[in-house]
Amino acid sequence: MRRQPLIVFAALIVAGGAVLAWPTLSELARTPVPVGAVLPGTGAPVAAGPLATVPLASTQPTPAATETPAPTETPAPTETSTPTAPAGPSAAPGPTALPTLPPGGPRAAESNWHAFAPMPPDPGRLSGYRWPLVNGVISQPFGTSPFGALLVDGQRFHDGLDIASFCGDSVVAAHDGLVLAAGRRFDPYIGWVGSIEPHTRRMNRLHKWWELPITVIVDDGDGYRAIYAHFNAVAVRAGDHVHAGQRIGWEGSTGFATGCHVHFGLFSPFEAGQFELRPDVQKRTRYPAWEIARIDPLLVLPPLRLGKTSGPFPSPSPSPTPSPVPTP
Ligand SMILES: [Zn+2]
Repeated sequence: MRRQPLIVFAALIVAGGAVLAWPTLSELARTPVPVGAVLPGTGAPVAAGPLATVPLASTQPTPAATETPAPTETPAPTETSTPTAPAGPSAAPGPTALPTLPPGGPRAAESNWHAFAPMPPDPGRLSGYRWPLVNGVISQPFGTSPFGALLVDGQRFHDGLDIASFCGDSVVAAHDGLVLAAGRRFDPYIGWVGSIEPHTRRMNRLHKWWELPITVIVDDGDGYRAIYAHFNAVAVRAGDHVHAGQRIGWEGSTGFATGCHVHFGLFSPFEAGQFELRPDVQKRTRYPAWEIARIDPLLVLPPLRLGKTSGPFPSPSPSPTPSPVPTP
């Protein structure tokens, strides 16, 4: 019993040291943030890990690695054989059927896109997810944040969940899926609304690719894509099929992170809602002004393990998580 305060204290230290914003975000925002301590590779944070109490992956049938990239929105990986998407049945929930053209043909479809496009699956119906870090703490939740480079309802916003353990820890796939990108050339796959050409030209001209976080994008096959960022190194390539729990890389701090952690984001290419990039960031980076809205990963991850005395394990920002998909 006497260890409990020590463990909580250690977890708070660890979490506080890893406060961090989505790679390009804090980076882009250049918002001064406290320099975090690099976590030692000890077992200290382990006790506070967001452990799944129910091993979902083992209690339900594991669908074959995804075969349902978005019908029209999933760009093919560029480095390996194109993992085309057989329009076969999907083991995952959610609508995956191709949109049906209306009587007016493609033009009518275009003008009534939302009436015929697939809807994003309800996050509450998604299954098969596990934590990308077996042991870690939430160092920054999804939601409003002074470090956010996005705007939702006029508030600065962090569009993913930051989870931290220690530098070099194994990061595992949160869900079965198909790797769309692995490395620093991931921007075509993260749901920017509009052309990324201006940004790409800027990066080429200034030779700044090294500044981006090493990132893995996975099509989870259920209508959603997962974003994992800040790796030290990755263990997968575009075109790889991964299964939940498989190591995809090693925790790091690439991309102007203040400490080692994983930024975990989720979005559906079918989502109509959008998050706005702060105008000052957009102007400087030349990214598009909007991205497809993300959902709170806590909606699909197994519940946080309950402690002896209280609820979820400590987070430096114990504020409640906001609604999953705020729409501007
Ligand atoms: Zn983040």
